[in-house]
Amino acid sequence: MSVLPRLKIAHLPTPVENLTRLGSELGGYQVLVKRDDQTGLAFGGNKTRKLEFLLAAAQAHGAERLITTGALQSNHCRQTAAAAARTGMKCTLVLTGDEPEYASGNYLLDRLLGAQFVFTTRENRDQTLDTVFNDSWSAGERPYLVPYGGSSPIGAAAYAFALEELLQQGYHPDWIVFASSSGGTQAGLCVGAVRSNFKGRILGISIDEPQEILCQRVAALANETGDRIGIMHHFSVDDILVNDQYRGGGYGVMSNLERDAIRRLAKGEGLLLDPVYTGRAMGAMLDLLEKGFFKQTEQILFWHTGGSPALFAAQYQDVKLT
Ligand SMILES: *Cc1c(COP(=O)(O)O)cnc(C)c1O
Repeated sequence: MSVLPRLKIAHLPTPVENLTRLGSELGGYQVLVKRDDQTGLAFGGNKTRKLEFLLAAAQAHGAERLITTGALQSNHCRQTAAAAARTGMKCTLVLTGDEPEYASGNYLLDRLLGAQFVFTTRENRDQTLDTVFNDSWSAGERPYLVPYGGSSPIGAAAYAFALEELLQQGYHPDWIVFASSSGGTQAGLCVGAVRSNFKGRILGISIDEPQEILCQRVAALANETGDRIGIMHHFSVDDILVNDQYRGGGYGVMSNLERDAIRRLAKGEGLLLDPVYTGRAMGAMLDLLEKGFFKQTEQILFWHTGGSPALFAAQYQDVKLT
């Protein structure tokens, strides 16, 4: 199926569930959820799919250490640390922000998974990554840099195959809605749509970037990803659907939008979301449903990208989640 080397790490295919109570509460919509929070690697998430390809590339380079970066509560860093442990590599995480007083959420898991840490500021991030990379070489190791969010063409390709997986499961939703940030998930789904002739619409809810910036990023990455797996198609900015109206106070700042969505899905469907990504994307989708943005006859699929370990992060304990 794939022209790219791939390690089998994820539990695939992930299930698709019908949120029947939510659908009828909303007045008779059919709302599905694709459970990529269940990809299996140390609490799973969308990065596990990307890492299947990134790890195969790292191994082909003879890598002994994975290096990547993200926020303190990065799900990408947690899954990368787990993938390193799983394949017998070392791992350094370059985390932005201050080292916290005690470990919680994803950062607690990163530590359990045996990662090493370098704390830096957002501005010095790339510089710090360079230093960590060069120090590893100097120490006689072969380092491999896993791109931010796993969103290189190789990583993003995972979501082209993920879309194919969904279609093979027999689902052809009119809309796919999900949290979009570094753009790899969205770029991959868009390439997958061309590859599999999927006609539904792929709507990314922007977590942090304005629409123009995210659309440009996704279109560029989709073009590179397509090239990488032999899809001859040019994506322009206008081919990419992004809604940036739900960014609230910015990255990782939880408001009533996320809080209400997290509670509603937990109590109403037994489904756990997260404060940073899926809570925001689900909050946006519920708002769009309530505003009549989708037609009643349309089938809407929420692609759950993971992240629930952040529910246990110290920084979200004082914001009345319970
Ligand atoms: C990384 C992440 C996203 C965003 O995916 P991108 O491919 O970076 O756009 C969404 N949800 C969760 C839970 C994530 O960890």
